[in-house]
Amino acid sequence: MMEKAVYLHTAKRHTLSVNILILINLNIMTLDQQQQVIRLKDALATPGRIVITNHQGPDGDAMGALTALYQFLRKKGYEVAMITPNDYPEFLHWLPCTDETINFMRQKELATATIEKADYIFHLDYSQIKRSADMIRLLSESKAVRILIDHHPEPSLSADYLFSDTNASSTCELLFDMLKIWDAALIDRDIASCLYTGIMTDTGCFSFRSATSYTFTTVSELLAYGIDRDAIYDQVYDNFSAQRMRLMGYCLNNKMEVFPEYHTAIISLNLEEQRRYDFVTGDSEGFVNLPLSVNGVRFTAFFLEKEDKIKISFRSKGSFSVNNFARKHFKGGGHLNASGGEIRISLDETVKKFRELLPLYKNELHAP
Ligand code: 5GP
Ligand code: MN
Repeated sequence: MMEKAVYLHTAKRHTLSVNILILINLNIMTLDQQQQVIRLKDALATPGRIVITNHQGPDGDAMGALTALYQFLRKKGYEVAMITPNDYPEFLHWLPCTDETINFMRQKELATATIEKADYIFHLDYSQIKRSADMIRLLSESKAVRILIDHHPEPSLSADYLFSDTNASSTCELLFDMLKIWDAALIDRDIASCLYTGIMTDTGCFSFRSATSYTFTTVSELLAYGIDRDAIYDQVYDNFSAQRMRLMGYCLNNKMEVFPEYHTAIISLNLEEQRRYDFVTGDSEGFVNLPLSVNGVRFTAFFLEKEDKIKISFRSKGSFSVNNFARKHFKGGGHLNASGGEIRISLDETVKKFRELLPLYKNELHAP
């Protein structure tokens, strides 16, 4: 109930009738969810070691949620550790406390010991255990109390406390609601900056339809903490190497293929091309969105060759579900308009498979 009070206060410039309308329509946490936050808070009254994890290839939402929750729990006096399955992009290194992150891929022993000692494990921004990559076994076997906070559809990861809301633009949006109920007084400028970063990146800078009016209300509340949104934008979007920009140019000029009859465009990048442009993690972030700017294109795919597999990103505009497409054909998932998957065949075979699938979706891809 406190959350509604906070919301009403911040929206005080609206008329009361508008407030009531907004409160009915927006994705404010249900009473059930609010009570669950209180139950979690009570459960954590028993001191214990907390481990916070996020998904492999952590993005802005995964890292924003990780660092925000870490700082919050530290302020509450808990013993907390953050573990990422692997590297996260350079443009997120500025986030507060990232130097305290344990990288499972690089610090296996420390990460393993930390997970084995955990009394509480948070799963942030993923709903399938396989998204935790090499940590799957350790996390599955852990006897710790598990808390899932996420916004992906159809969570399959079992947890003692499940905070899953597909209406939330991002895990950070949902986490902010939870922290306000948990202990609003502890939220500070740094925590707000992390949460804002997650919302900004997961909504494509507030351009995707997942950014609802409630998202903007949330952002408005976060801005009230005095966060420097220009600096955050600059760190995230204007912080690439010259080589990465050249790689982007190369992709658009030489690698983008458009299939007008299917309203589709793709880009693929092999290992040799990555080496040629000194590729580092995060360099291809956002490339999948580029062909969406071509008129008529509603479905895009970006194929990235890795040493052991092909990682794929999908994006769409309108009603075509790339979540279903990724689940059905590429062992993946995500959201209606943004998803990903992977496959262990060659890059050429992957692109061939994708092209052969397009005719099956001709009707769906024609729908606006
Ligand atoms: P991205 O293309 O930015 O890596 O991911 C877009 C969305 O798809 C994110 O919400 C992400 O969690 C989801 N996603 C990306 N790759 C995979 C995958 O391999 N499996 C599943 N289940 N979801 C993925
Ligand atoms: Mn997310």
